[in-house]
Amino acid sequence: MKILLTGGAGYIGSHVAAALVSAGHEVVCFDNLSNSDAAVMDRLEAITGTVIPLVQGDIRDGDALRAALNDHAAGAVIHFAGLKAVGESVAEPMKYYDNNVRGTLTLLEAMRDCGVKTLVFSSSATVYGEPRYLPLDEEHPTSATNPYGRTKLMIEEMLADVAAADGDWRIATLRYFNPVGAHDSGLIGENPNGVPNNLMPFISRVAAGRLNELSVFGNDYDTPDGTGVRDYIHVVDLADGHVAALEAITKNDQPLSTWNLGTGQGYSVLDMVEAFERVNGVRVPYRIAPRRDGDVASCFASPERAARELGWTAERGLDTMCASSWRFERMLATRNAD
Ligand code: NAD
Ligand code: UDP
Repeated sequence: MKILLTGGAGYIGSHVAAALVSAGHEVVCFDNLSNSDAAVMDRLEAITGTVIPLVQGDIRDGDALRAALNDHAAGAVIHFAGLKAVGESVAEPMKYYDNNVRGTLTLLEAMRDCGVKTLVFSSSATVYGEPRYLPLDEEHPTSATNPYGRTKLMIEEMLADVAAADGDWRIATLRYFNPVGAHDSGLIGENPNGVPNNLMPFISRVAAGRLNELSVFGNDYDTPDGTGVRDYIHVVDLADGHVAALEAITKNDQPLSTWNLGTGQGYSVLDMVEAFERVNGVRVPYRIAPRRDGDVASCFASPERAARELGWTAERGLDTMCASSWRFERMLATRNAD
């Protein structure tokens, strides 16, 4: 089956493209390159030995989507395309509702028009809001604390309505915890524009001397060392989870399924700094800074449902996450020096 990946040139999409090809699927990427680079396609070819077509287009353009679905005879869609910076979503909410919510509605209409009703959607643990209990299972109540999170929640609700109205749909909502790390080849990874918002790319850039020091946002949380605890998941494990989810929904008779993709293990900010320094033999200078607005103390998954229903569990540990992030950072330095 050929699978169309919206946002397929991005960080997670590119890793999923590689995983799908190695599982024997055919892939086409659809991306407006607003947060990625077409050169990723050459690197994917180097990794997979396969030319993966890139359609440059915007998910808010229904005609472009219909053309891509028809021209490539796609049988399923994995929908990564979206904006994801929490701070920016607070400053420019309309941009987020337009890109994420309108974009997804346009995608759903195009899929319906083309008779493609199999969809895997990139959601986020942010839909759990402030945790009422841990670990977070899929039954935990949902809420949103910022416009980005609200777009994910609105899209989840839209998908539930679509699945309830037409039982031919097969939709998987995947709630990612904290994806980090990079492909073993070092060829693809996370390379955000400007100063990174997320912890791991920030640590990598401090270690590489591209940034002076890490600000640790708060050391007075109710956690073992006072710093925030998160469930970091290796992006290659996350990618394998997509393959498992897609294969499951094409076989099961549920119009809508929801799975957490996490490890179940929480690490603090200082755990991450310590592991990165130890594994890579580098220094990551840091200072304690005030808490960041909207952050919760601890957030980690119950990965039980995915284990039971998908037969998928994350395999790569913290050391592998840190080593692969650093390998990718060094590859970027080599590229920039060329
Ligand atoms: P990314 O920015 O690297 O990838 C998103 C891709 O979508 C980019 O290549 C971008 O150019 C493309 N895109 C954005 N708007 C588009 C549009 N209107 N039309 C076509 N293409 C468009 O981000 P990522 O980290 O790979 O995230 C992928 C998805 O996973 C997003 O939906 C994000 O919200 C979700 N997610 C990410 C994380 C994370 O920590 N990275 C956590 C939870 C959920
Ligand atoms: N964090 C930090 N400094 C940074 C970036 C993040 O201390 O420069 C902390 C943040 O407060 C949280 C954890 O690292 O406790 C993970 O943050 P990230 O933004 O990567 O993911 P989130 O879970 O917030 O989506």
